[in-house]
Amino acid sequence: MKHDPIGAMPAYDVLIIGAGLAGQRAAIAAAKTGATVAILSKVHPVRSHSVAAAGGINAAINPTDDWRSHAYDTIKGSDFLGDQDAIEIMCREAPAEVMWLEHAGVTFHRNEKGEMDLRAFGGASMKRTAYVADITGQALLHVLYEQLMKNHEVIDRFEEWFVTSLIVSEEGECVGAVAREIRSGKIETFAAKSVILASGGAGQCFSPTTNALICTGDGIAQAYQAGAPLMDMEMIQYHPTTLAENGFLITEGARGEGAHLLNSEGERFMEKYAPNKMELASRDVVSRAEQTEILEGRGVGPDKQGIYLDITVVPRKRTLEALREIVNIGKDFAGVDITREPIVIQPGMHYIMGGVKTDIHGATPLPGLYAAGEVACVSVHGGNRLGANSLLDTLIFGRRSGEHAAERALAMNMPTVSDEQLGKDREMIAEILARPKTGRRVSEIKQELGTTMNRYAAVYRDEAGLQSAHEIIRRLKEEAKTAYVDDKGAVFNQDVLGAVELDYMLDCSEAIVVASLERKESRGAQFRTDFPERNDAEWLKHIDVSRNGGDEPKISYSDVTITDWQPEARTY
Ligand SMILES: Cc1cc2nc3c(=O)[nH]c(=O)nc-3n(C[C@H](O)[C@H](O)[C@H](O)COP(=O)(O)OP(=O)(O)OC[C@H]3O[C@@H](n4cnc5c(N)ncnc54)[C@H](O)[C@@H]3O)c2cc1C
Repeated sequence: MKHDPIGAMPAYDVLIIGAGLAGQRAAIAAAKTGATVAILSKVHPVRSHSVAAAGGINAAINPTDDWRSHAYDTIKGSDFLGDQDAIEIMCREAPAEVMWLEHAGVTFHRNEKGEMDLRAFGGASMKRTAYVADITGQALLHVLYEQLMKNHEVIDRFEEWFVTSLIVSEEGECVGAVAREIRSGKIETFAAKSVILASGGAGQCFSPTTNALICTGDGIAQAYQAGAPLMDMEMIQYHPTTLAENGFLITEGARGEGAHLLNSEGERFMEKYAPNKMELASRDVVSRAEQTEILEGRGVGPDKQGIYLDITVVPRKRTLEALREIVNIGKDFAGVDITREPIVIQPGMHYIMGGVKTDIHGATPLPGLYAAGEVACVSVHGGNRLGANSLLDTLIFGRRSGEHAAERALAMNMPTVSDEQLGKDREMIAEILARPKTGRRVSEIKQELGTTMNRYAAVYRDEAGLQSAHEIIRRLKEEAKTAYVDDKGAVFNQDVLGAVELDYMLDCSEAIVVASLERKESRGAQFRTDFPERNDAEWLKHIDVSRNGGDEPKISYSDVTITDWQPEARTY
């Protein structure tokens, strides 16, 4: 171990929470500056949700492309809520980052000329998505993990350690975290000069979702509890093509390769909604179009709640080569050979544009605390994220936060860190284990939360529905206080951690609902049927949610940064 402990307490220049793409990229960047680094993850790093990313990563690599075109598409995709300074940085730095990945060993798909191949993706004005078949996230994550291991002398890995809280000093700075080793149940304080949250999204607040079971919004809730503001929380992305029932993702790469969407009358209905971009309009636009077709009675499938995705129009050889994972998903989870017949899909919860508010260096308003990846809101995605821009966001802002957190750390002394939070978290775990059997089960409360969010905070929303959701969440918060867990042991007790995650999900869900109620307009992924128009005069601003001292969320606003691109009507 390359750190200088304070007594028995491990202490690092930079402590990174989460080992998906954002966390690993941050660790590699911080280590390069000479800082001591620890990276903690509640699952083995290569099981982070990043491994599931399928379709690809955007970068203006083609010589006829330009980062400004990528930036404009991203800003338009965001429905002009994205911060343009951050978007400029992301798009300008994208080609070099993708080249860095390729040099590190990512086997990006090549065309016949031997050049890096690019595929079409939604909302993009040209082919701009680099990919490795439809396992891009897996390819990237494994290559980064190799780099992490190569740097083992400067980066300490704590795999299967669950962070329960951030530590805030009396001076109001983030100075570490408390974590529990899942294998043993041991709980420890980690001291740090800078802390980077890279703990991913909160998809599990919804049911169904495309997100892995581990995406429970831990970092978003921990930052909120520690006093850092959240931003754009109302902006929840529904992906246009997920399998009905289980929510599995069918990558946008399918439409990128040319697949059609059809209603019960066999119409390519996107002609009505986005005559120019058709199936490759922004995700919010396509999901809304599908939902409208379903609501107007032109859905397909047993309960008419689906839409056909017809991949048979893509040459079979190309599908088997470039979309092989979804060929398997179709067979295994829907019993459909997608190369021969259409598959029934529907819009499904996929991504949270909002998260912990940061600046362009990944710094949050809480000194010492940084955030990067899906847990963060820079905000490069604003009201709606373009497909294949998230992997890019994790890497660019992962790297930047790693560099800046290290720079800050190297210029200061190790702060004094008390064991007070450790004591509180120990008590919290003991209290959960001691609960009587009379409480509801964690899984029941979680399921009610998921179906509530999917009903009221989905593609279409209104005041009455969101109010009901808020009332249900307040009740579930009360019920969660006595939620019962069966496993009382110390070794691999996922049950007790499930109760902790439930509290995180409830905090995230409340922030989502409160922000959705606040935004009285329709923009990006938020469509309010009671306020169907975008209203730039009143709502061209971010909604920030922070903790109001007690348990209630408090709303404030911040400005959207506009550089070169003035808001305009959004058509595809
Ligand atoms: C099915 C699917 C397909 C996708 N496809 C694409 C795509 O093709 N292109 C694209 O751009 N985007 C895609 N996305 C989105 C993108 O993959 C994610 O936004 C991105 O990978 C998130 O990376 P991350 O590093 O922020 O978090 P994650 O990869 O989710 O990693 C989070 C990390 O935090 C750790 N963690 C969480 N809580 C704790 C805790 N309490 N204590 C300790 N550790 C913790 C986890 O163990 C994990 O290591 C897809 C998403 C899904 C779900």
